[in-house]
Amino acid sequence: MLQQTRVEAVRPYFHRFVNELPDIASLAQCDEEKLLKLWEGLGYYNRVRNMQKAARIVMETYGGELPHDPGLLKKLPGIGSYTAGAVASAAYGIPAPAVDGNVLRVLSRLTGSYACIDDPKVRVHFEDLVLDLLNSEESLDPGEFNQALMELGALVCLPNGQARCAECPVSDQCIAFRNAHQDSIPVRKPKKPRRVEHRTILAVRDATRTVIHKRPQRGLLAGLWELPNLEGELTDAQVLEASRRIGINPVRITPLPDSIHIFSHVEWHMKGYLVLAEELDGLADGYLAVEPERTQREYSVPSAFARYTEYLNIRHGQQNTENEDFQ
Ligand code: SF4
Repeated sequence: MLQQTRVEAVRPYFHRFVNELPDIASLAQCDEEKLLKLWEGLGYYNRVRNMQKAARIVMETYGGELPHDPGLLKKLPGIGSYTAGAVASAAYGIPAPAVDGNVLRVLSRLTGSYACIDDPKVRVHFEDLVLDLLNSEESLDPGEFNQALMELGALVCLPNGQARCAECPVSDQCIAFRNAHQDSIPVRKPKKPRRVEHRTILAVRDATRTVIHKRPQRGLLAGLWELPNLEGELTDAQVLEASRRIGINPVRITPLPDSIHIFSHVEWHMKGYLVLAEELDGLADGYLAVEPERTQREYSVPSAFARYTEYLNIRHGQQNTENEDFQ
């Protein structure tokens, strides 16, 4: 949950999740709709799907107990080298490196390295360095050492020219600080600009219900529920035509404010319409007419649609944390 998201933002989601699914067995058995609903607002829904796949493997292969060996942990869906090292060291005290973005920044600065931290070989190099340290110093607690490095990166050795070297406990060993290079290290690959997609969102309702549609099982926001939407920026006349194709006979179409939602690799620039219908029977396959309270309770609608669900009385929780990767 904490990847790309602040602890404060995650806290309520974490409590809600572990209250409902307190152990590996309950996660393994959870129905998909409920699982996605519990994750709603956190984005990157593939993570929770992978957690469930991993939980099922742990139940079937390891008798319900998470393996301790980082090599076995890494074979579980959704667990990479960093998570395997973090779990093995913090939960089981095993000397294993847990090198995340913060730690890469700290180690690059400490060693004065100008190697690009987006290069997997550089990560492996720093993982080897941490492993050597953990193995050579018996007095080091692997979990505490890894967490100390992460905290140093999260609280002191900050990015974007914000490094607090005057307060840093390791400044006397830091090559970047000695050479005043802390603002030019670490080196990163330039980011590709995000692709912009224009979409038209239809917020459809009659007196009691609204229309939702299940997204395909692959791709962006896979398997989640969405408001009907179409590629491009449609005119009122095109919205009327599109509504009829879905089986809706609008009595009124009203433009809504534009909205932008930023995903990791793509931006949606959205134009919206409120589509009022007298009744919502006879919808095309894949579309559902559902009462707003039921949608809010049972169906996971990503916050990308939040600007428009408010016109349908469907409320979202916190919306600033949601994002999504392509699968
Ligand atoms: Fe980071 Fe500055 Fe500490 Fe070096 S001295 S590790 S650059 S905060």
